[in-house]
Amino acid sequence: MTLWHKEILLLIALLILLGLLGVFIGHFLLLYLIALSLLLLRQYIQVYRFEKWIKFGGAGKYPENNGIWGDIYYHVYRLRKSQKKRKKKLTKMIDQFRKSTEALPDAAVVLGGHDEIEWANKSAMRVLGLQRADKGQRIINLFRHPDFLGYLKMGSFDNAIIIPSPVDSSIILSVRVVAYGAGLRLLLAQDVTQLKKMESMRKDFVANVSHELRTPLTVLKGYLETLKDMDDQDSPLLTNSLRQMQNQTERMEHLVDDLLLLTRLETQRKKTVCVDICGLLTAICNEEGNLKSASERIQLLLETPKGLMGVQEDLRSAFSNLLINALKYSPEESLVSVRWYRDGNEVRLDVTDHGEGVAPLEIPRITERFYRVDVKRNRKLSGTGLGLAIVKHVLLNHNARLEIASELGKGSCFSCVFPESIICYEQE
Ligand code: ADP
Repeated sequence: MTLWHKEILLLIALLILLGLLGVFIGHFLLLYLIALSLLLLRQYIQVYRFEKWIKFGGAGKYPENNGIWGDIYYHVYRLRKSQKKRKKKLTKMIDQFRKSTEALPDAAVVLGGHDEIEWANKSAMRVLGLQRADKGQRIINLFRHPDFLGYLKMGSFDNAIIIPSPVDSSIILSVRVVAYGAGLRLLLAQDVTQLKKMESMRKDFVANVSHELRTPLTVLKGYLETLKDMDDQDSPLLTNSLRQMQNQTERMEHLVDDLLLLTRLETQRKKTVCVDICGLLTAICNEEGNLKSASERIQLLLETPKGLMGVQEDLRSAFSNLLINALKYSPEESLVSVRWYRDGNEVRLDVTDHGEGVAPLEIPRITERFYRVDVKRNRKLSGTGLGLAIVKHVLLNHNARLEIASELGKGSCFSCVFPESIICYEQE
């Protein structure tokens, strides 16, 4: 039997007893009234005691009580006890989280809804120059690098930005913002000075080696041409060797040129102008068509007159690399289409072929430097493995992206997708 059942049974028994007594003494109503008032008074006293106990936090042992009130006290007491336990656990967890973020080598700053600093770890104090007193200040008042202000204003935090530390400009930081919770943001800044140093050393090394290789290659090429002119074709071995040497020297020359172009794309920004894309594509298709006697293979579709703000020379390299690949990696009689058109807010160049295609697993890799699919099969096709890396870099410099759709044995479509922001109308 539950406590409630007991309580109700007791009440019914009391009422029956009083009823009988009331009938017996002849004051039924009066007796009932007195009994009910006493019961009500008892409940009021209990509520008063309960309110007093809970008002002071329900701390300590609860007042001794029988019946249903004892049960209520016990449940509230248990609830408060488990709440206290949970609070303690949570405080411990927050404490541990704070300690671990304090120990992080990267700077971490919690920003509120108006970019005000709510909390920062020790590294943030060191590399961002923040102080304890800066709590509550807006980060943009303390950290005023234009790139950072633009990044925060833009509100799209997919990528990190690279900026110097406001404390010491020789420290290079990779800053990233992560949005979480209701309007909160976490700013993370990583010291990438060493990484950037190594990257710049790698770029310098490649640029220097490529540059240094140019002179001996030019000399070799010159001598080979002279020797070829002198060759009276008497010895097939000599003729063949000279041809092979010339092919390899040309291949190496291409390699050096591509490496130098990649280095320039990574390090130097050339002045942009409004490039007439229709004119550029017509010229590239004519050149490639004549060169590879493939004019009837190329189908040029110019569906929009729009131009692009960009570097003409770089766009030429990217587009001709895509066209050369389409011609190279598809059967000799198959059609290659080059389509320039508007697609919603963007403009696209699709270079489509009906060639060998690329396996889905290889697609993310073919834009890597020197990556060539099935080297054995491709050996007979000339190439440096740098073409698509150049395309990717040129597009990156134009805020554009490369999309690759391909099916093995059916063909591929390489698309350069340009944003609306670089479309231009006046052609120079
Ligand atoms: P390269 O053509 O000099 O080898 P790229 O960087 O231009 O170097 O291309 C990398 C690889 O991607 C190529 O080796 C080839 O296997 C593959 N590839 C590029 N374009 C195509 C295409 N249109 N069809 C099939 N495979 C392609």
